[in-house]
Amino acid sequence: MRSAPERRELLRAVYEEARGCVRCSLHGTRTTVVFGAGNADADLMFIGEAPGANEDRMGLPFVGQAGKLLDKLLAEISMDRKEVFICNTLKCRPPDNRDPHPNEIEACEDYLSRQVDLIEPTVICTLGNFSTKLLRADSTGISRLHGHEEVRIIGPRAVRLYPLYHPAAALYTPSTLEALRADFHRIPDLLALGPPEQPSSFEPIPDIDDEEPDEDEIDVGEPEPAAQLGLF
Ligand code: URA
Repeated sequence: MRSAPERRELLRAVYEEARGCVRCSLHGTRTTVVFGAGNADADLMFIGEAPGANEDRMGLPFVGQAGKLLDKLLAEISMDRKEVFICNTLKCRPPDNRDPHPNEIEACEDYLSRQVDLIEPTVICTLGNFSTKLLRADSTGISRLHGHEEVRIIGPRAVRLYPLYHPAAALYTPSTLEALRADFHRIPDLLALGPPEQPSSFEPIPDIDDEEPDEDEIDVGEPEPAAQLGLF
């Protein structure tokens, strides 16, 4: 079993790797890699679509209007960002906020998989179509799926997957906001259920020495976007 501090350190190493990512062409247009932020040992994880202009500038997920709504909904269930981990399907902003391209999602998927594997959430809320389709490996859209939790095997673990409307979609459509809010208010009940039964083949993956962050490789001297790592 990996301890929470070990998993946090491994997550830092994934972040260091992602910061220099050139796996797709978005590295040429991004300002900052928006890795994700929050509690590295969170039971609850949110996965959005991709950074927008504000996120690209600040290096943090959901800092614009959609993020404010997310904060408000979290407050309504007596939670805040320090208790959850928030990230996106893509870690870099698509130019002009266009939809993510399939090759970009594919290039970025490994970072998300490693985030989920290391954070070990009990409940994952996918926000909108892109993360929902990716994690369910299915093209069913969010309007059919929102608010329906299901136990899914993601990587080596079973999690409670809970698709929600994307907060940006709720900003200007009252009926979507109403649905998002109603779904959101069920999150505490899902968390209270605890982790789902794990597959019988589930064995904690032992740490492989080669994958441990090598302290020499982590540039601890360089100033970091403190807000990104500060919350881990
Ligand atoms: N929309 C997203 O999907 N992610 C963000 O970080 C901001 C807006």
